[in-house]
Amino acid sequence: MSTKDFIEKDFYKVLGVPKDATEAEIKKAYRKLAREYHPDANKGNAKAEERFKEISEANDILGDPKKRKEYDEARALFGNGGFRPGPGAGGGNFNFDLGDLFGGGPQGGGGAPGGFGGGIGDVFGGLFNRGGPGTTRTQPRRGQDIDTEVTLTFTEAIEGATVPLRMSSQAPCKACSGTGDKNGTPRVCPTCVGTGQVARGSGGGFSLTDPCPDCKGRGLIAEHPCLDCKGSGRAKSSRTMQVRIPAGVTDSQRIRLRGKGAPGERGGPSGDLYVVVHVDPHPVFGRRDDNLTVTVPVTFTEAALGGEVKVPTLGGPSLTLKLPPGTPNGRTMRARGKGAFRKDGTRGDLLVTVEVSVPKDLSGEARDALEAYREATAGEDPRAELFEAAKGA
Ligand SMILES: [Zn+2]
Ligand SMILES: [Zn+2]
Repeated sequence: MSTKDFIEKDFYKVLGVPKDATEAEIKKAYRKLAREYHPDANKGNAKAEERFKEISEANDILGDPKKRKEYDEARALFGNGGFRPGPGAGGGNFNFDLGDLFGGGPQGGGGAPGGFGGGIGDVFGGLFNRGGPGTTRTQPRRGQDIDTEVTLTFTEAIEGATVPLRMSSQAPCKACSGTGDKNGTPRVCPTCVGTGQVARGSGGGFSLTDPCPDCKGRGLIAEHPCLDCKGSGRAKSSRTMQVRIPAGVTDSQRIRLRGKGAPGERGGPSGDLYVVVHVDPHPVFGRRDDNLTVTVPVTFTEAALGGEVKVPTLGGPSLTLKLPPGTPNGRTMRARGKGAFRKDGTRGDLLVTVEVSVPKDLSGEARDALEAYREATAGEDPRAELFEAAKGA
């Protein structure tokens, strides 16, 4: 028996009892009719057989107080001529149109058929639960992603840092509990019947929906707009949270911190936090991928004769670099494991570039020594090869 048949059949009429018949009266009427139309007493009478079936069916429903109640409520809701608006017996007002069937039910009055339980509730479940009141508004919603920026010192970027970030995001307005109405009693939006969505175009695709333009997708309209949020139900909320920036970030890098965005609604997950990192330059160290760079001045004699040169490291003790004799200006040497941290916790290298410094003022003794050096190297012309090469090609 289909749902429609179920409602259209008047079981009271079948048993010939009034709508307010007592259980005993129904029982009595059924027994009398059952005896009269029993197949054993009406062999070969198809009409009697059909009538007997109807009587049994009616008794199945009306003879069971629970089923009878559900049947009565369904009839009161839908009338006895199929689906049509009827006075709400126990479940609010239903106006069946495509919006209800394919979208969501009405907002107010507990849109779901409240009086239904068990049998009929199950029968109608498939129909009603398709939309349900305010489906779009009662589902968990993921929190917004938030974009923010932070400026780190050079050392913080290398080593990682926990920094306080002040973030603002949209949250339900506190003054009106997110309803947008200063009395807290917003009206269901008539345009979208509270679903917050309207079908897009008329191409027949019911799955294509747009946010309702009249209520901005909220499903509700504020009659007396909340002064704090001007009826939007949303408010900016600021909070400061401690955020861990991982070691090794570089300038202008955008990092994603999963779940650190705006909190979700109705149990939805939090959004993500995206942080664009700005890194202040360091007066001494530079950065090249995972490597740190530093330029170290050396004297002419250190470069020429070789020697041990102390080199600073970032956040650690200085190290001693062995300069081989005859080190040219601008040579870069590598100190392993003294660079920036990588994701796996290992470190890049420190690239040390030597820069031969030329003394501006020379004391008498040093000047004499250099003059003597000039004498000793008078026969050398460092530019001989240059001029030779310039002639060719
Ligand atoms: Zn709307
Ligand atoms: Zn408000």
